[in-house]
Amino acid sequence: MSAAAWLERAANLASALPRRRADDERMRWSRDRLAAWQRERVAEIVRHASERSPFYRERLGGPVRGPVELSALPILTKDQLMDRFDEVVTDPRLRLEALLGHIEALRGDELYLGEHRVMTSSGSSGRKAVYVYDRPAWRAIVMTANLRMSRMVGLKPGVPRPRIAVVAAPDGKHMTFRGGASMDVGVFVSRRFSAASPVPELVAALNDYAPDLMLGYPSTLAILAEEQIAGRLRIRPKWVTTSSEVRTASMAERIRAAFGVEPFDCLGLTEIGIAALDCTEHEGMHLFEDLSIIEVVDEHGRAVPDGSPGAKILVTSLWNRVQPIIRFEVGDLMTVTSEPCACGRTFRRIVALDGRSDDVLELPGPSGLVSVHPIHLRGVLGRHAAVVAYQIVQREDDLEALVVLAKDAAPEVVVELGCDLVAAVRAQGAEVPVVVRAVPAIVREPGVGKLKLVRARPRGCP
Ligand SMILES: [Zn+2]
Repeated sequence: MSAAAWLERAANLASALPRRRADDERMRWSRDRLAAWQRERVAEIVRHASERSPFYRERLGGPVRGPVELSALPILTKDQLMDRFDEVVTDPRLRLEALLGHIEALRGDELYLGEHRVMTSSGSSGRKAVYVYDRPAWRAIVMTANLRMSRMVGLKPGVPRPRIAVVAAPDGKHMTFRGGASMDVGVFVSRRFSAASPVPELVAALNDYAPDLMLGYPSTLAILAEEQIAGRLRIRPKWVTTSSEVRTASMAERIRAAFGVEPFDCLGLTEIGIAALDCTEHEGMHLFEDLSIIEVVDEHGRAVPDGSPGAKILVTSLWNRVQPIIRFEVGDLMTVTSEPCACGRTFRRIVALDGRSDDVLELPGPSGLVSVHPIHLRGVLGRHAAVVAYQIVQREDDLEALVVLAKDAAPEVVVELGCDLVAAVRAQGAEVPVVVRAVPAIVREPGVGKLKLVRARPRGCP
């Protein structure tokens, strides 16, 4: 790490540390107090956007000053954000074309113009998007969330310094990498490991590093758990946190069995930063509602009742002034509850995270196409003790289920899974053959190392 990079990280950490008590207190405010705070933040971010972003000024009909009803503001789509990128941002030096070039050349935590972190969404569905955080936004959002995460899981600074391993995207284009890199200073040691590396390489590197806290995609950590059980991986992390993918019951069980700890789960979205983490009750992830607002809505953008699954979410960043993200549409299938949590924190919780809306399969039934939610297939594959990893691929005439089986799995499991999947699909009113194939590994998304559990055919295809 260069001296400049070290200073940058140290300054970011130093800016967030003194606020930690206030940051924690907000998680225990009454809902009314939090709502009032959110209204103030929304008014401020909308005022700023309407004054400084030509795009928002136009869509909001000029500068907006005073209180704003968030739910009355227009929804922002990814196409709008990208088509009019240069007008959305509030810093005229930021131009999409130049940022794309910067992203292509990114290897680590390099800053654009010495102050902006530029990232892309993982692009698992269609068009990639570009997100920018200037230094104040990075500190207010990502550093606050990083330190809050370490406190919520109980990771305390000390000597020797706690060692964090982030097993995720291999380079600085992605939020998990940049967020992890930001912690590599001062009281913490943080190292990034590529989830796209061959497993033996990853195992050797982790054995060498011996992390205290390991954070990564659940599909990767489940495979590492298998390696630990087999005796090739020999680490003793006191904390394991999964992130950024759907975590199935069997993945969590495998992690528990291998490392002897109850895994935490967090939600990071490049659009708004780290958005949620579960507490030690492990009864859902508390949304970081003082950093961003997530509205769970149906396919027409109308709010769904508490505890009901939505068709997508609308995200608003309360602190990103350089690229205002206001009611931005993201295809996450999420269920949120405001039921109280035993930990006493009042922030609402995500009680189910079911992938992205493009994971919903359109399958033939006796009377036309039927939408089958990924949760029904996960019910079969995600809970089966013999399945280490899986991926459902929709093909021309059937569904193919690729499964990585545990070492001790009986060969007839493949047949059993096939029958269960056919039954699960049939229970939803669809009729389609399912082919189950045991494979040694599943190919991950290039460049990111994420694993998409369902690969549906794009809507509208024959
Ligand atoms: Zn809680």
